[in-house]
Amino acid sequence: KMSNFVEKTINKYEKYINPAQAKLFRFMGLGSVEGSAEGWTITDTEGKQFIDCLGGYGMFALGHRHPKVVEAVEHALHTMPMCGKVLFNRQMADLAEALADITPGVLQYSFFVNSGTEAVEGCLKVARLATKRTKFVAAKNAFHGKTFGSLTATGRDLYRDPFKPLLDGFTHVEYGDAAALDAAVDEETAAVILEPIQGEGGIIVPPDGYLRQAKAICEAKGALLIADEVQTGIGRTGDWFCVNHDNVAPDLMASAKALGGGVMPIGAIIGSERAWQGLIEAPFLHTSTFGGNQLACAAGVAAINVIKEEDLLRRGREAGAYLKAGLEKIAAEFPTVVSEVRGRGMMIGIELTKEGAGGMLMSLMIDKCIIVAYTLNNPKVIRMEPPLIMPKEVIDHVLEEFRDAVKTTAEVIEDL
Ligand code: PLP
Repeated sequence: KMSNFVEKTINKYEKYINPAQAKLFRFMGLGSVEGSAEGWTITDTEGKQFIDCLGGYGMFALGHRHPKVVEAVEHALHTMPMCGKVLFNRQMADLAEALADITPGVLQYSFFVNSGTEAVEGCLKVARLATKRTKFVAAKNAFHGKTFGSLTATGRDLYRDPFKPLLDGFTHVEYGDAAALDAAVDEETAAVILEPIQGEGGIIVPPDGYLRQAKAICEAKGALLIADEVQTGIGRTGDWFCVNHDNVAPDLMASAKALGGGVMPIGAIIGSERAWQGLIEAPFLHTSTFGGNQLACAAGVAAINVIKEEDLLRRGREAGAYLKAGLEKIAAEFPTVVSEVRGRGMMIGIELTKEGAGGMLMSLMIDKCIIVAYTLNNPKVIRMEPPLIMPKEVIDHVLEEFRDAVKTTAEVIEDL
């Protein structure tokens, strides 16, 4: 039974946001309004507590409302929250330095924006500027965001077709196939853009060495490699950045999501000296009013410090391995429902045998007050991206409930 307040909020969604979205949420049994959040829990306005295993699509690496990030943001709020844009901005300089320190190889310069898609847009522009070339190679099934440039790089027709014509000069190749990439990159390619693990595509982990091969292909042809670490970065996969797994340094990197510590929206375009050349010659070719504001940059600096101080890379790696092992056990027990579990660190995808099972599992889990969701480009994959700080006892509870939900799904799978 819904309270008056919840009913009113949903009515406003119907009337002022999107009636179809409101209907879909209702259909999935999502009858809660967010009230407050802390750590790995979200409490609705009726006092019901959910365990957040989705982590805002990967945003909540530190959990919700980490006190050190909140404190840093509060300090900025009460001193100077937004930048005047003319004087120097200390928080932005500090964050750029911190990013140069934690990113691999020659990545040195940062430009700050407010979202993942803006970070990708910026990488595409910077790559064209640096190489004076116009073409890009991306991967099929990739997700890079939904503004025009990022959407052109995104590899799923469902999201692209209604908005055509998109940008010219993009080719999409099979993800994980270095030979296909090599065949597609030529002397006019400005850059290759890849996710180190495809997130929305269904948590697709490429073969070991793929990114290193991609970098070598780019180098041979004078193109740049852009790593889209919007979802995989800032500790998600058990390292600062997922490219570290392949021991490779891209020329450009897009970061966002967890960079704001789960408290502020922020994105970054991070580049090498070579990639930055065009911007060094003409610094105002790319600008942003809100980008680099003190609130967001203070959150970024605090988030990076918290990850260091609380050893979150190691904790995320260990918690992720524990969760994945538990899910693999469930997969082995119910092969009619789960066909594969994959991922790295706290970025885990559970591939289902049938598309219909995704919606059912998600609803069952939300009934049990555990938030999970399927991936945007692939409804057959349920994704778990819990905060890196989630303790073992909570993971045990999640696994127990997930096993129950899979068991229920197994009983009705024939009808899905
Ligand atoms: N790139 C990747 C790899 C993503 O996963 C996402 C979002 O899911 C984006 C870009 C777009 O980020 P945003 O939603 O902040 O625009």
